Amino acid sequence: MSPKAKLNNEGQFHKMAHAVQFDREKCIGCNSCVMTCKNIGIGFLKLEEKGDKKHVEFSEDPCVDCIYCGQCTNLCPVDAIYEQKEIKAVEKALKVKGKTVIVQMGPSVRASIGEEFGQPPGTNISGHMFSALRELGFDKIFDVTMGADITTMAEAEELVDRIKNKGPLPMFTSCCPSWVKYIEFYHPELIPNLTTARSPHIHSGGAYKTWWAEKEGINPKDIIVVSIMPCTSKKNEAKHEKFKIKGLNPVDHVITTKEAAALLKKHSIDPMKLKPGKVDTCGQFSGAGIIYGASGGVMESALRSTHFYLTGKELKKIDYKEVRDTQSIKKATVKIGDHRLNVAVVYLTMNAAPIIDEIKKNPKAYDYIEVMACPGGCIGGGGQPLRTNMKKIEERKKSLYSIDSKMKIRKAHQNPVVREFFDGYIAKLTEKEQSAILHTSYSKSKKFTS
Ligand code: SF4
Ligand code: SF4
Repeated sequence: MSPKAKLNNEGQFHKMAHAVQFDREKCIGCNSCVMTCKNIGIGFLKLEEKGDKKHVEFSEDPCVDCIYCGQCTNLCPVDAIYEQKEIKAVEKALKVKGKTVIVQMGPSVRASIGEEFGQPPGTNISGHMFSALRELGFDKIFDVTMGADITTMAEAEELVDRIKNKGPLPMFTSCCPSWVKYIEFYHPELIPNLTTARSPHIHSGGAYKTWWAEKEGINPKDIIVVSIMPCTSKKNEAKHEKFKIKGLNPVDHVITTKEAAALLKKHSIDPMKLKPGKVDTCGQFSGAGIIYGASGGVMESALRSTHFYLTGKELKKIDYKEVRDTQSIKKATVKIGDHRLNVAVVYLTMNAAPIIDEIKKNPKAYDYIEVMACPGGCIGGGGQPLRTNMKKIEERKKSLYSIDSKMKIRKAHQNPVVREFFDGYIAKLTEKEQSAILHTSYSKSKKFTS
């Protein structure tokens, strides 16, 4: 045991829930992770002692806790802080006989994973990735972006309901589990403001283990769902008991963009050497789902469908450029029919703090607020290729908006797969059964101790 471990009187590893892991043996006390955690507005990590006794410690303050965003992993020069790996679990799943193994890639991953294979940031390699994942042995290539379309439908319907029935407003997005943890831990009094819609990969994972399993005549117990996400927090989210549908987790394993690249490299698969393939039919998605990967995208997708639900008319000018991120806090007033919605789009919890203060002083200041914990949204997520910086984030963002602009279907409610899921399956279920697939609940969070 190293002197550092003795000093801390703990083992070699410190786990932040199921998301991130810190290795005391590797840490050289460079302070990068401590500064990052401070700069995002959390301050869970601290540097203690001086000289060769310098080491990272974890806040014991009962009012401070990690939100699992993984931003601290981005600058570590010795890989002492990293995502909790699930590569071996995925390899094992691919070898189990009699199982249907589904893979689904998060919207932002297609614009960043190319960096691991020599492509400039923002290169869209989705077609190459579909082929590479097929080559790796997955039975079905679906997409979290389809789940994002389900989320948009659930969230837009809820927003319309809250607008018509006087709240509670503002409604907060809940796709980012780090933001959810922030509210549950730091501001539990605002839990009623979080939309009850589940997050995209939980929605699609649930859809595949219910609607799709029934359609294909497969026992849901024989389906394994693997999500490739830009995010360490999604690893922890997928483990929540509250998401279980008939005893099964919608998602079985989450690997980050970095882990997915490492897995492909381990098996000598270079996506760029393969002919671009296609997503399988039930993974089809809209442009609205694609922009979920960038800050402002969740709100814009929801607004495109909210317009339809509120006015009964389709939007002619699809782009809501006023909610597209150019700043870490973006405020706008959006007109939908007779309604004027005051909205805010924020990235980093540090920037959410002043908005929360504003709401506490004036609860009517906003109608709808999107917060993502990572810089620029998921394109800057803690599981993205190292070293993410604002220049790379900008290129990845441009790529997602470009993909959306070229798609034939750019509104979630026009995605035929999602329509089939809602009209042909969800509509026939009881309210309780529908809720078990589409919605969730939240509770005041206690400090996590590993
Ligand atoms: S995961 Fe996020 S909140 Fe937790 S220590 Fe790292 S930077 Fe801080
Ligand atoms: S912003 Fe995206 S990548 Fe970052 S913690 Fe939230 S969901 Fe994960």
